[in-house]
Amino acid sequence: MNNWTISARKNITVLSPDQEAVFSFDLEGRPVSWYQNDHIYKRSLASRIHTRERVGGRRVRAVLPEADAAESYRQLLDQIANAPIPVDDPDQQDRLQRILAWTPERLLEEKHRFNRIYRPVSILPPDQYLAVVLQATFGCTWNRCTFCSFYQDREFACRTTEEFEDHCAGVTEFLGEGLSLRRSIFLADGNALVLSRDRLFPILETATAHFPGMPVHGFVDVFSGERRTSAEWSELRELGLERVHVGLETGADELLAWLNKPGSAEESFGFVSTLKEAGLKVALIFMVGAGGRRFAEQHRVATIALAERLPLQKGDIVYLSPFQSDDTGANSFSDDEIELELTVLQDRIRQAAPEAIVTRYDIREFLY
Ligand code: SF4
Repeated sequence: MNNWTISARKNITVLSPDQEAVFSFDLEGRPVSWYQNDHIYKRSLASRIHTRERVGGRRVRAVLPEADAAESYRQLLDQIANAPIPVDDPDQQDRLQRILAWTPERLLEEKHRFNRIYRPVSILPPDQYLAVVLQATFGCTWNRCTFCSFYQDREFACRTTEEFEDHCAGVTEFLGEGLSLRRSIFLADGNALVLSRDRLFPILETATAHFPGMPVHGFVDVFSGERRTSAEWSELRELGLERVHVGLETGADELLAWLNKPGSAEESFGFVSTLKEAGLKVALIFMVGAGGRRFAEQHRVATIALAERLPLQKGDIVYLSPFQSDDTGANSFSDDEIELELTVLQDRIRQAAPEAIVTRYDIREFLY
């Protein structure tokens, strides 16, 4: 016998038929994530459904084809429509009505609304999956790292301040009351923080005017970010920038060159030091398993050595990202070997930076 509960929280509505299932919805009534039959389902803003289950101790992930997504929405909504949900007050009643106003067809239509506002959002750091993504730029200024295919389908381009203003208005309208789930602004795409002062400052001001009180995050790479002085990064912090996400990848210069990414461990150290001097938080990404067995030893040793020098503090993050590639041409690691490397790096970097968060970044979990 089901014993339904409804929890009307500040940012989310949670329904549960029993201890085995939980469904959550944003304040517009759109599903956010749900757990049932040992599966986790997560809905992207474009209404794609990402699923996860455990099979033989391993996580198995999938993105449902549209027909299956429609069926999943139907099953979810049918359960709720026919359920004896105890509604105690008008707020709960209103939330339930909003949830049931979404049909599978209407949810799938969200894809078109999303695509009118956004070009593809290719990747985010894990702490930013619930950000408000604002695309100030498209693509990456370099776009030639051998391991990175996120932006290969587009030329680097920048929105004008007026276009960005329209984009912010479109995002606000699209998120509606679902905005209350979002905690920060992520300035996309690959290295939006590379923009010149004349372009970036008005963009930051526009972003924070549309989404007041939200701290701003963004990616930048060492070779483009290091052109700014600490004083200029500090001004950006005063305009709302909180954390800069930097793909350092490795402390091994030879491996970085092999990956065709400009820079060096010395430049990485200098750039992170500049950001920290400016009072910014950082999230640094290292790729575990990059370069395979050929580079394993030097990658591990040099990455630990770099991490030991970096001035990391509370509020900083070190992401260890298992390398995803079919064939690096460098005698790739197996998944188990990558896990072993990840554990070693995680232990050593935690010792080196005890105040920072050191955690896994699995790009297959990305969702927006
Ligand atoms: S600089 Fe960064 S975003 Fe650009 S290609 Fe390299 S890894 Fe990808």
